[in-house]
Amino acid sequence: MSIKITEKCINCGACEPECPNQAIYEGGKKWRMSDGTSLIKNKTLDPTIFQEPKKKDIYFIVHEKCTECVGFYDQPQCVIICPVQCCVPDPKHYENIEELMKKKILLHENSCNS
Ligand code: SF4
Ligand code: SF4
Repeated sequence: MSIKITEKCINCGACEPECPNQAIYEGGKKWRMSDGTSLIKNKTLDPTIFQEPKKKDIYFIVHEKCTECVGFYDQPQCVIICPVQCCVPDPKHYENIEELMKKKILLHENSCNS
């Protein structure tokens, strides 16, 4: 399942550069599906469109992009690095390992090194 960031976040920013899917954003920042992925425009989807921030005051994870690091690392990198343990599983967005791997492939299928 996706990881989420709780209200305990102290805005240190340590998690953001660790995410292989660029699924972590600073509070108040707009995000795109194309950031850090190889998604390209098609007839039904334009991943380059900016989306509204999911949180204003603390870092947030875009669950649509989080793969729990499946396909890159054995463990979720944000969970490991967060100094206040506020990156936790998000039961509202449950996905099993197969689904997470499919998501990872979808996000990076046009990339030559994934
Ligand atoms: Fe990114 Fe991995 Fe954390 Fe998901 S679990 S937000 S993919 S670092
Ligand atoms: Fe917040 Fe933890 Fe990320 Fe720091 S590492 S910005 S405390 S979620």
